[in-house]
Amino acid sequence: MHLRVNGLSGFVCSLSRATSCSIAEVKSGIQSLTGIPCIQQKVVCDDRELEDEELLESLVPDNSMEVERSLELVLLRIDPARAEALHAVRCNGLCLETLPEELRGDRDIVLAAVKNTGFAVIHAHPELRSDREIALASVSDRGFVLRYLEDSLKADRGVVLAAVGNDGFALRHASDGLRADREVALRAVRTNGSAVQYVGNCLAQDREIALAAVSSSGAALRYVAPVFRRDRDVVLAAVRSCGQALKFIEDERLREDPEVALAAVRSDFTAFQHVPFQLKTDRTIALAAVKQSARIFKSLPETVKSDREVALAAVQNDGFLLNLITQELQHDRDIVLAAVSNSAVLGYACVEMQEDREVVLAAVRHEGTMLQYSSGKLKSDAEVVLTAVKHNGFAVVYADGKLRCCREVMLEAVRNSGSVLQWAPEELKMDLQVALAAVASNPAATKFVSEELKKKRKFWLAALRQNIGVTEFLPKKLRRDQGELGQGLRKLSAEAYKKLDAEKQQLEAKLQSAQGSPKASKQLPEVLGKVQLALAQGKKQVSDLRTTVAAEIQQVLPQVLHEVMQSKAAELKKLLDAGAQEWKEKYSIECDRRRKLHNLVQELKGNIRVYCRVRPMTDAEAAQGCCIAFPAPDEIQISNPDLGLKKSWQFNEIYRQNSQQEDLFSGIRDLVVSMLDGYNVCMFAYGQTGSGKTFSMQGSKENPGVYTRTFSELFKVAKERIGWKIELKGACVEIYNEEIRDLLLGPNDKKQKLQVRQGKEGNFVPGLTMQTVHNVEEVEMLLNTAQMNRTVAATDMNLHSSRSHLAVQILGTMTNPDGKQFSSAITLVDLAGSERLAKSGVSGDRAKEAIAINKSLSALGDVIAARAQKNAHTPYRNSILTHFLQDSLGGDSKTLMLLQINPCASHVEESMCSLTFGARVNAVEMKKS
Ligand code: ADP
Ligand code: MG
Repeated sequence: MHLRVNGLSGFVCSLSRATSCSIAEVKSGIQSLTGIPCIQQKVVCDDRELEDEELLESLVPDNSMEVERSLELVLLRIDPARAEALHAVRCNGLCLETLPEELRGDRDIVLAAVKNTGFAVIHAHPELRSDREIALASVSDRGFVLRYLEDSLKADRGVVLAAVGNDGFALRHASDGLRADREVALRAVRTNGSAVQYVGNCLAQDREIALAAVSSSGAALRYVAPVFRRDRDVVLAAVRSCGQALKFIEDERLREDPEVALAAVRSDFTAFQHVPFQLKTDRTIALAAVKQSARIFKSLPETVKSDREVALAAVQNDGFLLNLITQELQHDRDIVLAAVSNSAVLGYACVEMQEDREVVLAAVRHEGTMLQYSSGKLKSDAEVVLTAVKHNGFAVVYADGKLRCCREVMLEAVRNSGSVLQWAPEELKMDLQVALAAVASNPAATKFVSEELKKKRKFWLAALRQNIGVTEFLPKKLRRDQGELGQGLRKLSAEAYKKLDAEKQQLEAKLQSAQGSPKASKQLPEVLGKVQLALAQGKKQVSDLRTTVAAEIQQVLPQVLHEVMQSKAAELKKLLDAGAQEWKEKYSIECDRRRKLHNLVQELKGNIRVYCRVRPMTDAEAAQGCCIAFPAPDEIQISNPDLGLKKSWQFNEIYRQNSQQEDLFSGIRDLVVSMLDGYNVCMFAYGQTGSGKTFSMQGSKENPGVYTRTFSELFKVAKERIGWKIELKGACVEIYNEEIRDLLLGPNDKKQKLQVRQGKEGNFVPGLTMQTVHNVEEVEMLLNTAQMNRTVAATDMNLHSSRSHLAVQILGTMTNPDGKQFSSAITLVDLAGSERLAKSGVSGDRAKEAIAINKSLSALGDVIAARAQKNAHTPYRNSILTHFLQDSLGGDSKTLMLLQINPCASHVEESMCSLTFGARVNAVEMKKS
């Protein structure tokens, strides 16, 4: 076979044996062989291009020796360089720039490039810049590239319409004639109101255009003719679409018009700052603002602050404002009720309210531990205490001593949180029902059950029957006499194999999908071959193993059970131990293999990943417009109409406005497995205040975020690793003004200055509280404690939390069935707000805070960049944040940056900064492959 294209002979050889084969099949075969998708291929025979429908048979008369010779005529004309270029520009149009000149003059390639990114047209060969089809495709994607096109195209109505439909500002580059075209102008201002500044002079007095412009973007009010700026309808339409337009109103009369001000504030509460002073005392306007954002309350004039309805709306929105309302209103029962139902603020209420039964009930219903702030009398009120412990079992520690001994109260408390059994009186620790309720909610509470009860067989039997996971706490003596245990073991081993198999299948599926991603495709064929081989072998071994072990268990178990009946306890133990040992060995080999494969998949995905999440807008924000679009599944685009600019970025994952907490977590779940495999994992939520960092990380009780989900998964995976010993410890710190604060220490605990030190096994912080955790409830308790300690220390929680970093860390020590030990940590950080704090006009504490935040966030960026570029020096010591996380950020650890974006047009600049920060981290990692 004489084929002139490298690497294709294998395919044609197999073709020659095919009896019937169409040209289309020849093409798709070549495609699968070369791994280059979608290339344009021609099959030429005797200078004639063959049609897809033609059959090779018809060219090769019979299926004989003749076949080989005739096929020599089938010449495949594939230019590998061209095919690769096509593929590259389809994935990223801007690659066009890097191609040699003749390819930049190839019409198909240029067309593919501009379809991906219209901007690519500037890299096309000059000859192609007058091509209408290319021009249309470019401006439909990026309107502003109209600017780079030939003059003839700037006067082409179809091209200009497409351009202004994509980006109103493109109007600026259209020919004079088209700028005076009413339909073109209307389309442009509907896309972007501010484009009204570029419409031809003859249209300047057109009221419909002016109205359309301000309705699409209120800020366009600046650019409409003076007569429209005095036109009440136009002004109202402007502030309705963008509250901030209020500041562009020049007409005195309209600025002081309450209806205009109200409309502006309704569309964007931040416009309140531009409301003229005399209207700020208007309670309707104040109320509209406060209902949208409680934060406005602080900037209200005193007279309005003391308005009952305004104060009520404020605390309904944010309970913490209870602190800021007038003394008189702090005694208003409805207001306090609303505040404590919204936030855990009973501590801020006046004494009189802390003694009010209804208020306290509402508070403990919202947060059980608020019981601590209620008056002594209510701490002995059974209904109040019961309500509190039902919400949070932990609250029982604040109840009156008598109630703590009450069986009904303790039963509710342990049902909610098993570990509070430790505070129960001895007789309740002996109570079978109380003890069972506690271990059902948290098996680790077994250690608090009275020793007396634990000696009894009935306690263990009841627990096992209810399927409570107490086997690991079972006393040795009882273990031997357990028929039920034997069954339990069999079930567990069957589950272990099922799980192992499922995990392998998942790995395989992931590898297949990773193969599709352009980033991995270059290194993949080789790696993939190895991995698939390893997988196939692994899979076979597992299934062999399963058959043999199943057969063994099948044989051994009836006998074992029989012997139990005969009370041959010693023999049973020996048998079980021997079986377990063998099983443990095989299992451990499998585990090791799985660990390596899992890590390989993670490395293919990149040890540094950047995800981006865009939060949904409130109605008021939606009225101001959205600056974010998604041109492709992994691409996010931002448009800044004021600068007439559009910019796109690609990230590993992009979660759009409608994404759910579980969507985000499914992109993170793998990292939990990596952590239990011994790799350090670090995840950061980055973004300006209000962009959703805390929502993603912490979430709410009903809709928990990354913290809770990570820990649940951690314990779930740990539990499934039978034969492993996994110990987990948690720490929680806040980094504020370059100082580390231990959040597990309460207001009354003695605190020492915390500093990062270098130890033998890496960095550590001497004196930092590390609490052992056995289950999710205990982690939640730890988080609650941390949250409470953080709240107690801060005067304004919202402000404070946006200026400090919160790091939750879980350290794991894993011992596999062989006794091999790994240790690693997963650290989840809710970073301080990344907004650029005003450079001038701040001094004192605010300036110090701003410096500390800038320093630590830029150090974080530098460290990740240095690491991805494999620089010799990584500047961990430039900030406390990076120094504290040095071990978790270095080596082969996994880092995930979650960029949070507020899509509202008024935040376009901050969002741009966040995306640029993320792109820097992302870009360096991409270069690796
Ligand atoms: P940050 O911690 O970045 O300052 P928050 O997490 O406090 O921001 O979010 C600001 C507001 O936006 C909160 O009211 C929050 O409930 C809301 N929010 C953020 N992300 C989402 C989301 N994905 N879905 C719904 N609401 C969200
Ligand atoms: Mg926050």
